Amino acid sequence: MEVIPIAPRGFCKGVYQAIRLAKQTAVENPGVKVTVLGQIVHNRYIVEALNKYGIQTLDDPKSSRLELLRQIDDGIVIFTAHGISKVVREEAARRHLTIIDATCEDVLSTQALIESARMANQTVFYIGKAGHPESNAIMESYQQVYLIEKIDDIPNLAGLPEIFVTNQTTISKNDIEHIIEAIIKQYPQALIAREICAATRLRQEAIEKIKSADSLIVIGDPQSNNTRMLAKIAVEHGIKHVVQIESIEQLDTSILSKDMKVAVTAGASTPHKLTQQVIDYLRMYDFNYPVALPKVNIDTLLDE
Ligand code: SF4
Repeated sequence: MEVIPIAPRGFCKGVYQAIRLAKQTAVENPGVKVTVLGQIVHNRYIVEALNKYGIQTLDDPKSSRLELLRQIDDGIVIFTAHGISKVVREEAARRHLTIIDATCEDVLSTQALIESARMANQTVFYIGKAGHPESNAIMESYQQVYLIEKIDDIPNLAGLPEIFVTNQTTISKNDIEHIIEAIIKQYPQALIAREICAATRLRQEAIEKIKSADSLIVIGDPQSNNTRMLAKIAVEHGIKHVVQIESIEQLDTSILSKDMKVAVTAGASTPHKLTQQVIDYLRMYDFNYPVALPKVNIDTLLDE
């Protein structure tokens, strides 16, 4: 079996920074309650590992970030790497909560573009995923912003409106081009700012450069949008067998065979140790004497 590790792997700068800020906050404020408003990044192992530093995560898919914030009365609140809406920022300020903002700088940069567009009274088309915290932050912050998940969502606006088009940082570079094409057809005057972040784009491009692999294992949390997009692009690229797992603990060894080429990639929020554990296991795999799958060690997951 040939194992092909795909680069880049490991944390992107935004995830690295968010985890560093969270750990630093806990270390510098012993005895103070530290709560992350939602998952700091979409990876449950990281949430568990931070919990060992005494950092709590308040997360409920049915509750908005504003509703979650209202459950916190004291201590330090950390905003996640996905960004936060103006409404939540204002509520936190009104209640004099101590805030640590771990929003990724690439997300902040997209938010700044939208702010400028709205200040200029432009109508914004935001290509993103409904319910994702990054798009929620935008939709909660502004009027006159349309969320576009698919071509059918492009609204029919009267007259010749000024349109500004941008997108969630972690979506598929293939999907966005189809949608932008359809927008330009309908609104040739639209201004376009493609905002897929470098970490997402490079990982997607690396998948498309895979010359020959029978199988691709994508490691990452099911909630991680950039991870899911890697699996989607791999299928579109024609890789026959694509599986997404959270860690070695979910690897199904029945998919392995002696003469196969198996590529391995990971989302930007997947700890390097989780990915390396899968690569090492595959490289050492003995089809005559297969060893049991190892466990993930949460205690050392975030050690550098
Ligand atoms: S995936 Fe991109 S936008 Fe998200 S945290 Fe990483 S660098 Fe920032």
